[in-house]
Amino acid sequence: MARAEGKALKAPAFGYAKPASLAEAFELLGRPNAKILAGGQSLIPSLNLRLSSPDLLVDITGLKGLSGISGNGNSITIGALTTHAQIEKSAEIKKHVPLLAQAAPQVAHPAIRNRGTLGGSLALADPAAEYPACAVALDAVFHIEGKQGKRQAKASAFFKGLFETDLKPGELLVAAEFPVARSGDRSVFLELARRHGDYAIVGLAAHNDRFVFLGAGDRPVSFAFKENLEGARRALKAGLKPPADLYNNSATKLHLAGVLLERAWNTIRT
Ligand SMILES: Cc1cc2nc3c(=O)[nH]c(=O)nc-3n(C[C@H](O)[C@H](O)[C@H](O)COP(=O)(O)OP(=O)(O)OC[C@H]3O[C@@H](n4cnc5c(N)ncnc54)[C@H](O)[C@@H]3O)c2cc1C
Repeated sequence: MARAEGKALKAPAFGYAKPASLAEAFELLGRPNAKILAGGQSLIPSLNLRLSSPDLLVDITGLKGLSGISGNGNSITIGALTTHAQIEKSAEIKKHVPLLAQAAPQVAHPAIRNRGTLGGSLALADPAAEYPACAVALDAVFHIEGKQGKRQAKASAFFKGLFETDLKPGELLVAAEFPVARSGDRSVFLELARRHGDYAIVGLAAHNDRFVFLGAGDRPVSFAFKENLEGARRALKAGLKPPADLYNNSATKLHLAGVLLERAWNTIRT
């Protein structure tokens, strides 16, 4: 058993509730220090590491209507509880949202993809995560619900900083809506990681002239590159200031971002 300071490494005590309806969930989320639990693949490790100590976990996995993939010809809506594995295996996503289909197998390992959810990943807003960058590149719209009612937020305005989003206390991300790829659209997802399944050192979600980097700032970092590759390289060098991580300094990450830019350019712009 892992030990920290002579004690077992496990979560602090917390209350647990599994609401059967959204109304019940909103009531529970109004209680002090309550937190949403979805797939638990980020939240539970953070509890075990004592990085978070909520009084109440509100398990939303029993809520109907928050899971699944549906299309209307113009867009594909993916419920917040849809797992990474379901996204990875979906023929509809492969056909209509190819950028997301390319990104899904790069998210963590199969065991985590079986439980982790789209909503959990977007709400967590880890700057090295794949889906937030894809959502910004594709101009996705997020459907949010709370006690006060429903609202929508554009992905480009949703990510506010390191693990920080536009979600207000008590609000739940219910779905994300992605535009259907049109003929002539080109997209590619690329990332560099130490081992497959690790969080990316740097990654790139590119869709037409929009290039969105992950692992390169406190949130997805978006560029519109309309000119030639040389101009894009110059703009990247001037505009991207990646923070160092445990293994790579900022200059290395900037270099790797340039490598991904060139690979993506050669795939979708030539
Ligand atoms: C070893 C390991 C490797 C990983 N590698 C990657 C990786 O390479 N790329 C990557 O993107 N992720 C990675 N992850 C994280 C994984 O993808 C998680 O599944 C995901 O980040 C969170 O989804 P979840 O459903 O598990 O959410 P949870 O862990 O249950 O919740 C995460 C956070 O989101 C909030 N939340 C969850 N759902 C909602 C909602 N619908 N509305 C509002 N708030 C909500 C929770 O309150 C919590 O704060 C990794 C995890 C592990 C353990």
